[in-house]
Amino acid sequence: MEEDCYEYSYYSHTESPDGSNCDTGDGEVPILLPPGADDWEQDICESESFIGNDCVQGIWEIMKQNNVAFNNLGSFLGERPIAELCLDIQNLNDPTRDVQANGNTALSGSTIKAKVTITLNSQSLNRSKLGIARTILHETVHAELYAMIVEANGKDALEAYIAQNPQKERFQLIWEYINEFPPTTSAAGWQHEFMADYYLTSMVESMRELSSDLVSDSYKNYIAVDSIVYPLNGDAFPWNWNDFYIALSWVGLKKTTEWDKLSDDLKSKYDAYTRQYEELEVLSAKCS
Ligand SMILES: [Zn+2]
Repeated sequence: MEEDCYEYSYYSHTESPDGSNCDTGDGEVPILLPPGADDWEQDICESESFIGNDCVQGIWEIMKQNNVAFNNLGSFLGERPIAELCLDIQNLNDPTRDVQANGNTALSGSTIKAKVTITLNSQSLNRSKLGIARTILHETVHAELYAMIVEANGKDALEAYIAQNPQKERFQLIWEYINEFPPTTSAAGWQHEFMADYYLTSMVESMRELSSDLVSDSYKNYIAVDSIVYPLNGDAFPWNWNDFYIALSWVGLKKTTEWDKLSDDLKSKYDAYTRQYEELEVLSAKCS
């Protein structure tokens, strides 16, 4: 859901569901870290409720070990971050709405001291750990896009900022998305359209990396024996792990024009993957 208001008092994005440390101890190939990746997580603050949730802490730990959020958060890291980033867990349920948010990202403070907060919905943690990791990653992209708006001194100043900084091509790109997908005509909002076009591939890779730790052995064994997906409508089809990661990556982006372009058959397959996984994953691989 997009509220197209970039005043610095409060801005919030809500995600609805339809919407290395070179550890070579196991003989694995070392992952080459981007510069500055060491201890990057120390630049991110965590609320008491975030620290106090062991299950979410476990997920965040795996995400940090895999450096999957690092590349999304350049504006918050290093010696001169654009804004502060905090992670929180709160009850985000809105009794006036049917759809329960998985999380949201909100901007507060001033341009000089901006703060972006990613909040997970405490009422929406009864999901797979991999699904919760996906929500966190999804929100980190929102956070980074908000930080770009902060860097430009607000959306109204973006055009001038682009003129002054023509080498920062990414700002030109988001300006095009803001204009192409205004809230009056875009159900998904420009940020989700941007995500579907530019972040889907990295999300798929992140899901692949995280699955080795976050998908239970029970589920992997189950798929090894009965590798079939059963959609609500249509024929059952063979499980394919890559398609599963793609299916997960689309969650939260299903109002975008890119999702609309997929065939009904493919949409139904992706829906079947995520539904089956959430239904059959064991409780120990979920939070509550
Ligand atoms: Zn979103």
